[in-house]
Amino acid sequence: MKFSWAAATDTGLVRDHNEDAVWPDPGSGESDEPIVVAVADGMGGHAGGEIASRTAIDTASSVGGSPLVRVQAANLAVLDAAAHRPRLTGMGTTLTVVLIDPAGHAELAHVGDSRAYRFRKGALIRLTEDHSYVAEMMAAGRMTPQEAEVHPYRSVVTRAVGLEPTVEVDTFHVDLVPGDRLLLCTDGLSNMVDEQAVARILAADEGPASTAAALIEAANAAGGADNTTVVVVDAR
Ligand code: MN
Repeated sequence: MKFSWAAATDTGLVRDHNEDAVWPDPGSGESDEPIVVAVADGMGGHAGGEIASRTAIDTASSVGGSPLVRVQAANLAVLDAAAHRPRLTGMGTTLTVVLIDPAGHAELAHVGDSRAYRFRKGALIRLTEDHSYVAEMMAAGRMTPQEAEVHPYRSVVTRAVGLEPTVEVDTFHVDLVPGDRLLLCTDGLSNMVDEQAVARILAADEGPASTAAALIEAANAAGGADNTTVVVVDAR
């Protein structure tokens, strides 16, 4: 199996800098070898968010090993980058890492409220759970999806990379078959564009680069309130 991929990130229309990071670095390409894709959405004052997401992506993309090992290494790297730098104390990041082999076996490791989706035959399936306050409230039946969408705490995550020496990581695998698309995104997309609209964009017969650009454009057309980052991988 071959993969075509594209990655894109955008500051949006409201924020003055981009605290998201992505692997591969924005661009596009093809591969018939195992590929790693990842998104991170950083948080923390004094440039902490940018440093946390960049450190996490640099580590996760270079360290080798399973997605779980990569997320654990990123966790320690972010923690280490904050050590002895009081202004960066408390910085953290979401991190979603996927390793896909040419047989279509995709391994995922995930912390935070960025998301991974598989799009197959017109159906968009979310693969990840949000580790967020509103997701936990909804799971407990104490908040409706409509309330969550507009809740002032909708961006508050309950798990992040870089805060503690160990981090609880969700790991799982899915299989991709030719025709499938994999989407990774930060909450700048998922908070601005509903899943039906995302599915329509993925269903348009466009390559990964045009699709990634269209997703960013949709987030900005909806207000661009946050940084938006996407990775689209097509299995062929
Ligand atoms: Mn965000």
